[in-house]
Amino acid sequence: MCSLLDITLNELLLGEVIPDDCLKEKSDQVLFDVISGLLGNDKGYIPNPVNSEKVLELENVKKIYEETGAKTAAINGISLEVARGSFVGIMGASGSGKSTLLNMIAAIDKPSSGTIKIDGQDVSGLTEEKLADFRRQHLGFIFQEYNLLDTLTIYENIALALTIKETPKKEIRTAVEKIAEALNITDILQKFPYEVSGGQRQRCACARAIVANPGLILADEPTGALDSHSARQLLEILVMFRRDYHATILMVTHDAFSASYCDRIFFLKDGEIRTYLNRDGKSKQDFFADILDIMAKTAEEGSYVP
Ligand code: ADP
Repeated sequence: MCSLLDITLNELLLGEVIPDDCLKEKSDQVLFDVISGLLGNDKGYIPNPVNSEKVLELENVKKIYEETGAKTAAINGISLEVARGSFVGIMGASGSGKSTLLNMIAAIDKPSSGTIKIDGQDVSGLTEEKLADFRRQHLGFIFQEYNLLDTLTIYENIALALTIKETPKKEIRTAVEKIAEALNITDILQKFPYEVSGGQRQRCACARAIVANPGLILADEPTGALDSHSARQLLEILVMFRRDYHATILMVTHDAFSASYCDRIFFLKDGEIRTYLNRDGKSKQDFFADILDIMAKTAEEGSYVP
């Protein structure tokens, strides 16, 4: 379990000496206790709506790269659906196709075959100009590196998503102030990104992603650059977006702790969905244990390298 979570035994057991024959059991137990504490209670979890509208639909999507005659199927026939108001995770080893898949869903890259529909619109058929507009209207992004503009204040960064849509100034102010208050960043709105902490920058990126009320929020390893406290805050914000704003979130992560906040997780391997997990009514702790179980099984098969 330690290796799956990338911490050493010494860090875990705080230097306590444990006899060899009890070591595995003790470390797994301590680790589980620590993580259960971190996961906290399940406020914010709401079951998936039944028969709800699909925000994202992929049908037999393939992406084949061809280099010097050799073909690589980075994505090999993926079909999936994401219902409005759900929080879905994509997990997989390095090279399994996560970035390729996300880039196609973000309409940055085109599939070799298959269809991708967002809010009912087939994005593969749109021209470059229409795509840029479509992205602005329907998608919100949260990246590991925040991607804020350093020459704009936090307020201006958040407002940008609405300014581009030519929303009236007064409405922009009301929307930015409302989301800033919900994310506890009102005090830093007039600062520049380089004047605030990493956690605050990421909360600003979250505000920017949700403020224009997009159909789908794409989060690419959003906790990757954060300390554990800020990572938890960010994941709770995503859960709050789902609960209070009925947002739909698709998050790519290699981290079981982050994934345990999702309602459903797809596990990728060699460009295919190998399996998936639904949280259903499970507690976050039980869901976390299920995720680790799948990661451990695929690690045993030699296919999971976090
Ligand atoms: P992940 O994000 O899970 O690490 P990627 O989507 O980056 O995986 O890559 C999936 C597969 O596609 C890998 O085998 C990778 O080498 C290959 N690949 C990705 N991008 C390209 C490209 N531009 N040209 C050729 N092969 C690529």
